[in-house]
Amino acid sequence: VVNLCWFRRDLRLDDNAALYHALKSDRPVLPVFIFDTNILRDLEDKTDARVTFIHRTLVQLQRQLRNYGANMEVFIGTPEEAFRYWTGKYQIGAVYTNHDYEPYARQRDAAVAKQLALEGIGLLTFKDQVILEKNEVLKDNGEPYTIFTPYSKKWQQVLTPFHLKPYPVRRYMSHLFKAAATDIPTLAAIGFQPSGLALPSAELNEAIVAHYDQTRDFPAQEGTSRMGLHLRFGTVSIRQLMKEALALNATYVNELVWREFYQMILWHFPHVVGHSFKRDYDKIPWRNNEVEFKRWCEGQTGYPIVDAGMRELNATGYMHNRVRMITASFLTKHLLIDWRWGEAYFAAKLLDYDLAANNGGWQWAAGSGCDAAPYFRVFNPTLQTQKFDKDLKYIRKWVPEFESFEYVKPIVSHEMARKRVLEVYAKALK
Ligand code: FAD
Repeated sequence: VVNLCWFRRDLRLDDNAALYHALKSDRPVLPVFIFDTNILRDLEDKTDARVTFIHRTLVQLQRQLRNYGANMEVFIGTPEEAFRYWTGKYQIGAVYTNHDYEPYARQRDAAVAKQLALEGIGLLTFKDQVILEKNEVLKDNGEPYTIFTPYSKKWQQVLTPFHLKPYPVRRYMSHLFKAAATDIPTLAAIGFQPSGLALPSAELNEAIVAHYDQTRDFPAQEGTSRMGLHLRFGTVSIRQLMKEALALNATYVNELVWREFYQMILWHFPHVVGHSFKRDYDKIPWRNNEVEFKRWCEGQTGYPIVDAGMRELNATGYMHNRVRMITASFLTKHLLIDWRWGEAYFAAKLLDYDLAANNGGWQWAAGSGCDAAPYFRVFNPTLQTQKFDKDLKYIRKWVPEFESFEYVKPIVSHEMARKRVLEVYAKALK
């Protein structure tokens, strides 16, 4: 009899909650991973860098497991098919895995739990991806927070050193199931090819994080940590990162709490997927002009800071946070295009794409989300440039033609667009 440890967005051995609990059980542990065809079939780009990243990470995990005489089994198919296969092949005591707060994942896990229960097998799940989850940070009246600042205050109050304690997984590696080696399937076997994009390192750059509060807003600088991808796939531990952050920079800690905030919002308010958090905002009559949307996607709006951001995203799979806010505001407010269109475009392109953070960021930009401020904020791209790219270094890098006659004319005038959006919003929300 074996216990399975099902890896998903926690692709590391160290400080992994589910793996720790599995290893502490009384049965040998078999690590497993599913290339979920429900997810993969929706990825149009067959050179998707995130698939390359997952694949590369699995190969590394496999190498580490071999040092213990263990093996990770990888299945290609749906979770239902995978567990039918494994329950046929092994006598399984229990399946261990870490919480995932996304609606698809919740539905998937409920279905798997039901399927396993028919065979008398339990699905045991653990908190790993965030430090404080679900109902651990609530208002005094027991309701979830919907505004960040009071949430973050409470978050800091609830936090104890225990929450950051690493799970000492390495001590129990002898409890891994000793198995014959199998290979991780090739990328081609799952219908993908390697991506040419550069992937950021999992090493935290402490020198950058130490000055994060001063550097984080300037897209021309390397002033942020580039941890997004690693937090998304769990190739770094949030407990370890938070411990380092607490010693380095309070502003950086705050950003990690934003991440927990949006995961908590997604958990309590799953309607944000596809709907406005503030439901009234679903009444906004978006213009949804497809030609304008295409120009925004391609970085051809004639607003240099917007175009720079979109071109950075298209070329690298990354966009600086300040510019994410500017481009998102531009799409929703200047062009009056539905935030869901922008959300989907970012989801397809961002290496660090995360449903909770992306949805939260887009709804914040559209004014429909968890924000104390009303919708009147319409970023002025010119003022944003003067403040955050004063020397035009970022713009020159991505839009080299912007001072020449070749550069496209602005897609809309700022003044007209500002007036238009305020009128449309006021009318729809009245
Ligand atoms: P740092 O600035 O070094 O921050 C460290 C980590 O803190 C990030 O990796 C991230 O995990 C977390 N974090 C920072 N800011 C936020 C935030 N505002 N909300 C939630 N978490 C945050 N972040 C994503 O991780 N995935 C997304 O898909 C995503 N989409 C966004 C879309 C829009 C429209 C906006 C405005 C923001 C979005 N963000 C998203 C938040 C933020 O822009 C990125 O987390 C950040 O730019 C990633 O770069 P970094 O790793 O260098 O971050």
